[in-house]
Amino acid sequence: MRKKIIVGNWKMFKTNSQAIEFIKTVDSKVKVNKDIIAGIAVPSIMLSDVQKVAKNIVISAQNCYFEKEGAFTGEISVPMLQDLKIKYVVIGHSERRDIFGETDEMINNKAKSLLAANITPILCCGESLETYESGKTIAWVKNQITKGFAGIAEQDAKKIVIAYEPIWAIGTGKVATPQIAQNVCKEIRDIIKGIYNQEVANEILIQYGGSVKPENIKDILDQADIDGALVGGASLIEDSYLGLVNYKG
Ligand code: PEP
Repeated sequence: MRKKIIVGNWKMFKTNSQAIEFIKTVDSKVKVNKDIIAGIAVPSIMLSDVQKVAKNIVISAQNCYFEKEGAFTGEISVPMLQDLKIKYVVIGHSERRDIFGETDEMINNKAKSLLAANITPILCCGESLETYESGKTIAWVKNQITKGFAGIAEQDAKKIVIAYEPIWAIGTGKVATPQIAQNVCKEIRDIIKGIYNQEVANEILIQYGGSVKPENIKDILDQADIDGALVGGASLIEDSYLGLVNYKG
């Protein structure tokens, strides 16, 4: 049986003090459960401090650069994350792709650097409204996955968490129906099977992201091929975060 992985994505919200306060309030209320991983991807400036107070919540980064060090002003490296014992990093979020021009090749390099350091990449994919409406979702996602996993060996591929996030459902309040989300996640599992094999497809964790809230998380996570959620807005409020990670399956 695959675990569930529910990760908040705070994007560029909260100050360091607010983040510490949040984690202190919420961490002990997260029901520890061997079948659920509860995480929060915080802005990099607060990684060090929140990592010290989080016991049950797994702290994730929202991004990294793939080079070990060098003249890359403003970036954070994998060794820097390793030093803080960060275990998950979101890569290829649609906001990074669309606003900051990240390419599939960069995302692939990030995945490789993270895997080499034993850090789990949460690799995002997902289509725009235009692509969705023109019925090209699967071709789009297939291209992103194929390029994102290029050159990654089977034993590493199964460690990656894929987050399927239709851009039209991110921060819009428009949630893909559980059936739409399930269909695409199933297709993604088939794409992974095509690149690797049935075993990798069975093991890999696939999250859905896009306007997930405590009210709809159960219906989404009940779907056979959805193993978790990546959640923006609803992860910023303490009660709401707890409603997500302590949902009753
Ligand atoms: C996200 O930031 O990845 C996301 C899914 O946001 P929201 O839950 O607010 O739609």
